[in-house]
Amino acid sequence: MKKEDCIFCKIANGEIPSKTLYEDEAFRVILDLGPATRGHALILPKNHFDNLYELSDEAASGVMKLARKMAGIMTEKLNCDGFNLVQNNGETAGQTVFHFHMHLIPRYKGDGQRIKIGWIPGEPDQEELEEIKKTIAE
Ligand code: 5GP
Ligand code: ZN
Repeated sequence: MKKEDCIFCKIANGEIPSKTLYEDEAFRVILDLGPATRGHALILPKNHFDNLYELSDEAASGVMKLARKMAGIMTEKLNCDGFNLVQNNGETAGQTVFHFHMHLIPRYKGDGQRIKIGWIPGEPDQEELEEIKKTIAE
């Protein structure tokens, strides 16, 4: 299913040209136009899903298999030192294009990016962790 006026639907389905690294029936992998590092790429499903919440089980498992495959190929070809998978959902979480995509980010020693896509670690006590666990899992 495609969505009208979705730029990633158009790119994924070849209506807008892109630097394509890989393509199959369900996905296209393209170079990001605003890369964090050399080789930063995006996995786009050809069907439209706004985000992770909407992703089908089939696309979800396909994405992770493809991420693993691409990470291997890209690490070998680019000779990078590490690899981040990043996937943002919702404006609050930094999503800017509302068609599900997985970032493939090769990492190089001294690449100038933060080592981790960072957060400030909290210091929850056992009571708070217990309350959160109950909220989610009970
Ligand atoms: P998000 O912030 O939604 O997780 O990531 C969106 C990503 O898409 C950004 O890294 C941005 O550079 C990339 N991007 C936005 N528009 C285009 C485009 O038209 N073509 C390509 N190749 N990448 C795009
Ligand atoms: Zn779309």
